[in-house]
Amino acid sequence: MLKNYVGGKWVEAGSQYSEKVYNPATGEVIAEVPLSSQADVHEAVEIAFEAFQEWREVPVPKRARILFKYQQLLVDHQDELAEIVTIENGKSFKEAQGEVQRGIENVEFAAGAPSLMMGEQLPSIADGLESGVYRYPIGVIGGITPFNFPMMVPCWMFPMAIATGNTFVLKPSEQTPLLANRLAELLEEAGLPQGVFNIVHGAKDVVNGLLDHKKVAAISFVGSQPVAEYVYKRGTDNLKRVQALSGAKNHSIVLRDANLEHATTQIVNAAFGSAGERCMAASVVAVEESVADEVISLLIQKANTIKIGNGLDDGVFLGPVIQEEHKQRTLGYIETGEREGAKLVRDGRNDEVVQQNGYYIGPTIFDEVTSEMKIWQDEIFAPVLSIARVKDLDSAVELTNQSRFANGACIFTNDGGAVRRFRETIDAGMLGVNIGVPAPMAFFPFSGWKDSFYGDLHANGKDGLAFYTRQKVVTSRWV
Ligand code: NAD
Repeated sequence: MLKNYVGGKWVEAGSQYSEKVYNPATGEVIAEVPLSSQADVHEAVEIAFEAFQEWREVPVPKRARILFKYQQLLVDHQDELAEIVTIENGKSFKEAQGEVQRGIENVEFAAGAPSLMMGEQLPSIADGLESGVYRYPIGVIGGITPFNFPMMVPCWMFPMAIATGNTFVLKPSEQTPLLANRLAELLEEAGLPQGVFNIVHGAKDVVNGLLDHKKVAAISFVGSQPVAEYVYKRGTDNLKRVQALSGAKNHSIVLRDANLEHATTQIVNAAFGSAGERCMAASVVAVEESVADEVISLLIQKANTIKIGNGLDDGVFLGPVIQEEHKQRTLGYIETGEREGAKLVRDGRNDEVVQQNGYYIGPTIFDEVTSEMKIWQDEIFAPVLSIARVKDLDSAVELTNQSRFANGACIFTNDGGAVRRFRETIDAGMLGVNIGVPAPMAFFPFSGWKDSFYGDLHANGKDGLAFYTRQKVVTSRWV
């Protein structure tokens, strides 16, 4: 049974309830995660609140120095961490290494807190009067994370939160809870004082405990749309700051002048990498009619070369989806697509590996998809790609903008004017030009729009810093 990490100690959860954690590549049980109670949350938040009183006073460069040490430890343990990610999540080892790298970059960015936290001054706002802005932490932060990035997403949150002087209570996904405990051990090794970073494992009760606790100042959430909406509403109802990064349905537009070889390689990567379980996965391609047949044939050809299997095995690109239930849900969507009249041009149910233990689905491609179809509208979060044939760029943008989600959108073209029109008219917060996954680096905000994000300040970049800090404006007269 996994333990919670509270006040620098590994403690048993107070609740009787627990869930099994599976290796999705084999279906084997690899751990048991406690479903902690609200009392467990209460204890962790009280301890984090106490730790905050001292941690906030630690000079910023001293806090940053612990993150420098932590960064080195993460680099030293990069492959070990990646292996844990592959075992609990199923993504390929190479993808997992990339994810760990992304997490490390967040730590590097947060270690710049001394410069990032600097305020601004105006020495003369009137005769003899001056004003300046100073930044301070806000208190205890609750972090609630999804299964698909057990390393990267927590690292969007706690490094910046603690670097700016807050303390943190993390509730990792109960489907992928193992990595978080290793992250805590390494934080301890880096010299983080007890109580600054805490973990309470569990599910809904822990989330509600964080959302309702008066001493939690802010909530960072990443997960699916219905839960993001719930967390945002309940958290703000309790007068907390909330940033809730939500579900997605990312669109790529391929114009006839694009380098189709390059575009289709990028799209196959973006659609089927991490088994389509990325919030920035390509799930719809709007392709100009005149090149549609060629694009589809290239996509099928490339999808056929993908090695499917256990992410720890050499050369595997496509691992399993997270759980049997998710596999069944995805198979249901494939049937729905057929029923809705979309044309199934590559059927991932026929790949041999689907019959093995583990939750495998091969790359699946639908042609002739329209915005009336569920497979166009819903986030399937699996290796299922929909192609919609469009007349031109404007109709591609019009189609894309019908989606309730607006995380990422990409265009493939060599036409600068088309890129500009795409940039100015598309409703999405993260755009890519001739790339498949336009996920921003740590120093830029992860900036979904519409139902892909609820809140004001996004994760990462200067938004992340602003979310975890509050300001004092001091106006002085010296006579
Ligand atoms: P999820 O919403 O099921 O779970 C996310 C977190 O919420 C978990 O910690 C879980 O325990 C908790 N939770 C689940 N149901 C709850 C409920 N009813 N009440 C309270 N808490 C609950 O999401 P997931 O399946 O783990 O992750 C996949 C989703 O996350 C996808 O929709 C994906 O697009 C999204 N995601 C978004 C981003 C982004 O940046 N926008 C990044 C990564 C993942």
